Amino acid sequence: MDFEPYIRDIKDFPKPGVTFKDITPLLKNATALQKAANALVGFIGNTKIDKVVGVDSRGFIFAPMLAEKLGAGFVTVRKSGKLPYTTISESYDLEYGKGVLEIHADAIEEGDKVLVHDDVLATGGTAEAVCKLVEKLGGEVVQCNFLIELSFLKGGDKLNGYPVKALLRY
Ligand code: 5GP
Repeated sequence: MDFEPYIRDIKDFPKPGVTFKDITPLLKNATALQKAANALVGFIGNTKIDKVVGVDSRGFIFAPMLAEKLGAGFVTVRKSGKLPYTTISESYDLEYGKGVLEIHADAIEEGDKVLVHDDVLATGGTAEAVCKLVEKLGGEVVQCNFLIELSFLKGGDKLNGYPVKALLRY
């Protein structure tokens, strides 16, 4: 299926000069939603996945669907201050300043095979921080997958060494 018609460009969002890829047209279409989830699962092939890690907040849309289809658990990585239990954290670069991502300290077991999922790979800072959190807890990142990779931002370079898959590349 060609998912491109279901992605809407929003000019100057969230600020002037940025064109935001809006995935909500894909989400509201029953066929596109189902086929996108199946295609993301297809990227994994027969590899056993123990945990699917979804990234706050649009990563939470597909990650639990993928986990259910793969027979894996679902783990959240959240922006700082949102998780209730003991966390470990990792900072990452934002355009101005730094952001902090957190994961529960008991979310990943040593040796867990992990799929990292988010909606969009842009500069790669977010996904890189997520992979570091998984590895700090002893997990092995098997793949990072996304609905969309903005290839011109070269985020894949920050994920060097991790297989990166995306349904759409711009
Ligand atoms: P990065 O850290 O790779 O620069 O940014 C990726 C993060 O920002 C992801 O969590 C993603 O949700 C969000 N993001 C950046 N640009 C876009 C965009 O154009 N569309 C959507 N839906 N999310 C974006």
